[in-house]
Amino acid sequence: MIIYGSRSTHLKSSNLPNAKCPCGESKGKLTASVFGRHVHVFWIPLFPVGKKAVFECKQCHKGFKKKELGEDAKLAYKNFKGTVKTPLWKYTGLAIIAILIGMGIYSSIQNDKKVVEYLENPAMFDTYTFKTESNYYSTFKIVEVFQDSVFVNYNDYETDKISGIRKIDLKKNYSSEVYVLTNNAIKSMFDQGYIKDIDR
Ligand SMILES: [Zn+2]
Repeated sequence: MIIYGSRSTHLKSSNLPNAKCPCGESKGKLTASVFGRHVHVFWIPLFPVGKKAVFECKQCHKGFKKKELGEDAKLAYKNFKGTVKTPLWKYTGLAIIAILIGMGIYSSIQNDKKVVEYLENPAMFDTYTFKTESNYYSTFKIVEVFQDSVFVNYNDYETDKISGIRKIDLKKNYSSEVYVLTNNAIKSMFDQGYIKDIDR
């Protein structure tokens, strides 16, 4: 199975009226055909990687590469090449990647807003994911809300990766011991980057 590769597609052809063929003196017999190569992954075009041209003469019926052309024909080709645009579909993969990154950034901004809102209005059973001093991750759960503080139960378990939180955020892992945290203490943890997420 081919996962990735590159392929060329024909972009544009044109007669070069002012160019001479390497075969002789007559002008206007050369046709340039420009091909654009692109990288594809799973058949989705990712991005273009340059253009190449082939030249054909109507008089001698021979094909030529650019380096075989005379200076006048090279110049005529250069002018023509300037008019050949790379079609947008060749950027499909890059566009998809940009959209995914954009969605990721958007959802991360939305999550940050949510965290700030939950911080300001704590509620029963809010679950805070936090980083420990030794760079582990764990959680605590709010069990009671007061004016300036909350009561919490700490998770007895830690994980070395934040993605492991889901595995340890289980009811049976929470200690029944109650700790008091002032709103200011939680705010200060947040300001120092220790609060990673809040789930409600
Ligand atoms: Zn020719």
